[in-house]
Order: sequence, then C-alpha cells, then structure tokens
Amino acid sequence: MKKFTAAVLFLLVLILQNGCTTVPGTGRSALMLVPESALVEQSNNLFREMRRKTRISRNSEYNASVQRVGRKIADVVKDDMPNTHWEFVVFEDASQVNAFAMPGGKVGIYTGLFSLVEQDADLATVVSHEIAHVVARHGNQRVSQQILLAAGGLALGLSLDDEDRATRNAVMTAYGMGSTLGVALPYSRSHELEADKLGLIYMARAGYDPRRSLVFWEKMMRRQRAGLLPEFLSTHPAHQSRIRQLKSTMEWALAEYDAVRPLR
Ligand SMILES: [Zn+2]
Repeated sequence: MKKFTAAVLFLLVLILQNGCTTVPGTGRSALMLVPESALVEQSNNLFREMRRKTRISRNSEYNASVQRVGRKIADVVKDDMPNTHWEFVVFEDASQVNAFAMPGGKVGIYTGLFSLVEQDADLATVVSHEIAHVVARHGNQRVSQQILLAAGGLALGLSLDDEDRATRNAVMTAYGMGSTLGVALPYSRSHELEADKLGLIYMARAGYDPRRSLVFWEKMMRRQRAGLLPEFLSTHPAHQSRIRQLKSTMEWALAEYDAVRPLR
C-alpha cells in the first residue's frame, strides 16, 4: 500500500502544480499534468531528430505552398500562441497521406498528402487542423492521460498482490484493453473533432473558403474506401460525425470568412 499512496501523492502534486487549463476557442477545461515547457523541449528534440533522419522534400511548389499557408494560419492564432516558433516541414514520403503537429509548433506534412491537394484551401484544411491540435494543447492532454492510465494500472497491480499470477495477468490484460478501447480511443476522437472545429474557424479567418474542407474530407474518405487507409485517419472521427460537425460550424466559419475577405 505504501507504493500506492506514493503514486497517488505523486499524481496529486502533478495536478496541483499544473492541473487544468482552458482550451482557447472552445472554453473546454482540460487536464494537463506536464509543464508545457518540458513538453515543448521534448518535441523540439524529436522534430530535430526527424529532420535529420527523414528525407526532406525539395519540391519547390510543395514547400512554397506549405510555408504560405502555414504562415497565414499561424498568424491567426498568434494571440493564443505568443512566442511560438512555428516550423513547417515537407517530408518526402509519397505513401503517406498524412500530416502531424507537435507541442511548441512543429508541423510536418508528407508529400503523399499532395495527391489530394488542388488548391491552398485544401492544404489549409489540414494545416489548420494540425495547428488547432497545438493551440488546444492536445499533446499535453494525451501525455497526462497516459500518466493516469499507467497510475491506474499500477494501483490495480498492487491491490492484486495476493492473487495468483494467472488471475492477475487476466485482469491486467482486460484492464489494458479496456483502457485502450474504453478511454483512450473516444478521448482522442473528441480531440479530433475539436481540432476540426477550431481548424475550420482558423482557415476562414486566414482567408480560405471553409466550405473547401468538406470537399477535402470527402476526397480523403473516398481514398479510404478505395482501400488506401492513411494512418492519419485511424484515430479520426467517423466520417459522418466529422461532416455533421463541420456543417454545424459552417455558418460561424462563413461569417468569419466574409469578415476578412475584403482585407485579403
Ligand atoms: Zn488530428
């Protein structure tokens, strides 16, 4: 029981030191246990390593459009993300219809994504979604969730100390599966939907027609049905819930788009 108490105390200290933060744009409160600065430093190191080990695209058209779109959307979120050094890199891998973002503003786009891109607004759909993950601090929430899951597993393991090994293994396996299917998956889907919603507003404010996002995600879905399932989509929300939410946010997004259009 001593170990269990220590684990709970450790968690309490983490929660008290960092605790809950409000997501800009949606006002949802979120659990963040890790100091953001530590996460940013880790991500910067990881991204630097990726740049060293993965081939970077020399396609000048891809690079120019990613920089152009990335800068515009980063500019929209500058009040929420002051002192962020955004970095947009195109990685050479035609098989990956994929993109990612890390805490601290490192965004990677794979060349495979360009097979679906016809205009800047298409790219803006993906880049704004990725930037939204960063602004909403989804990375920190995922790490915090992993810490809680690990602590839950630890507590369960310790309380089963006297049970025989077979029972214990079975319970741990069930708990592991339950943690993945019951908690982790819906949680990250809710992050995906939140990133869709925030991203739609960002792209509109940056001067890209938000209706283009519907066209883009439809194309992505057709690609998925054709059997080319990008990893990008594996944790993404079901197509229908994604489209439904985008449509329900569209009126707001179009108002934002109309407000900036004369300026751009
Ligand atoms: Zn996402």
